[in-house]
Amino acid sequence: MKPTHIEHIGIAVKDLQDSIKYYEEVLGLECYAIEEVKDQKVKTAFFKVGDTKIELLESTDPEGPIGKYIEKKGEGVHHIAFAVKGIEKVLEEAENKGMRLIDKQPRKGAEGLDIAFLHPKSTHGVLTELCENKNE
Ligand code: ZN
Repeated sequence: MKPTHIEHIGIAVKDLQDSIKYYEEVLGLECYAIEEVKDQKVKTAFFKVGDTKIELLESTDPEGPIGKYIEKKGEGVHHIAFAVKGIEKVLEEAENKGMRLIDKQPRKGAEGLDIAFLHPKSTHGVLTELCENKNE
């Protein structure tokens, strides 16, 4: 598949506003967008670090994926997202190589990207997101 870069790192947090303070006041980054992704039951905040972004994820529902994650593991790195070209084909390729796909088809994520996840059971413990910006 050969990703072009790490698109973003997803980090699960308990309190978005409180976490934004750390990224802005300590790291000196600037939050340039806050977006709710209803489908995923999260509110996200974005920061740019070079070509890579930090995506903070606060759950809007304890039963959502981030709500459950925080309950089990607490705050921390949740997933790594690789930017790819031709995501449908990349997914098919990954499946052919024995990867367990969480999304068989890409769906819309934050910032209008097409995204799909590979299950951490087949990626050595890292929830892996593949994403493609088709508006580029
Ligand atoms: Zn993500």
